[in-house]
Amino acid sequence: MSTMRLDIVTAEKLVYSDDVSSVNAPGVAGQLGILPNHAPLLTSLMPGELRVVKEGEETNIAVSGGFLEVLRNVVTVLVDTAERAEDIDVERAEAALKRAQDKLDSSESDLDLEKAIQALKRSQSRVYVSKRKRSSAARSKTRQ
Ligand code: ATP
Repeated sequence: MSTMRLDIVTAEKLVYSDDVSSVNAPGVAGQLGILPNHAPLLTSLMPGELRVVKEGEETNIAVSGGFLEVLRNVVTVLVDTAERAEDIDVERAEAALKRAQDKLDSSESDLDLEKAIQALKRSQSRVYVSKRKRSSAARSKTRQ
């Protein structure tokens, strides 16, 4: 089965590096599906879920904004932050989501709207990725 290389990099670390069979990423214009031998591409990413399939197994990663490049069968994802679903502290993400919502609801005159919106999107995607993974793990457990 054909594969492509995927490297997910943040300023802090290399989060993922492996040969995979598909990548689904949150592009600015919607979810973006990438298969091996994809044409060269450079696009911006928004906070959301990045799904990777390797040997039939799906890995779910919450990413914040950044870029995705496809070149010569190598997909490089450069993002501010990236966490695998199992590494997400959902309580922390829910607290961050509440803080961002409260900020946006407040009438603070010095509110940095763009910063608050970005914090809201990051925390929403962490909560979504973590909970979705938990519910699919629970479903496969009840099937066993
Ligand atoms: P918080 O207010 O909870 O710090 P944040 O959105 O401001 O959230 P970031 O600045 O995006 O946090 O991330 C800082 C670091 O913490 C990054 O390394 C990121 O991967 C990690 N991180 C942030 N939130 C979580 C979380 N809920 N679970 C696990 N790691 C997290």
